Amino acid sequence: MISAEEHEAAKAQAAKLLRRAGVLVTADEERDMDTADFGLGRLRVEGAQIVKWFDTPRVSARVIALFPGQTEPEHWHTSTSEHAGKEETLRVVFGQLVLYVPGESRVRHGVVPEGKEEYYTARREHVMSPGDQFTVPPGTKHWFQAGDDGAVVLTLSTRATDDQDLFSDPNIVRLTRVGSWSGRA
Ligand code: ZN
Repeated sequence: MISAEEHEAAKAQAAKLLRRAGVLVTADEERDMDTADFGLGRLRVEGAQIVKWFDTPRVSARVIALFPGQTEPEHWHTSTSEHAGKEETLRVVFGQLVLYVPGESRVRHGVVPEGKEEYYTARREHVMSPGDQFTVPPGTKHWFQAGDDGAVVLTLSTRATDDQDLFSDPNIVRLTRVGSWSGRA
């Protein structure tokens, strides 16, 4: 859970990053921004600020603003009997992003959050700058981390079902809780 104060401060800081990136989000989208701490209570280390542009039954579009060094924890998008797992293309529009997917071990530009080595198993590194994009296939573990200036990333995908995402860290709860209010991304 994060406090209402931290939630508001994170939204304001993320909105600045989005403006710096030249990404227009409406006042309503900014108000409804998810400040996802994944239930870990340390948003600025493991977390993400997520603006939902749209979800239809078939496609989804989001923009993610990450603070300097902030990490979205390792997760993957599963298939269910009703639909195939989410295929997700990440496109960097501002800052530097280091994306990890399974493969040979070579974490050089990013840093695995301290004490969390066992929950960050994907170690094949992709260093991405504005204009770079990467498509993560369904069921593929991935995590990503912003560089020193933060990062703004578009995530364009097939249908998103966030509450069914799986995370390597068993302590993670996907739905953000702000104070006593229960948010939803
Ligand atoms: Zn993902």
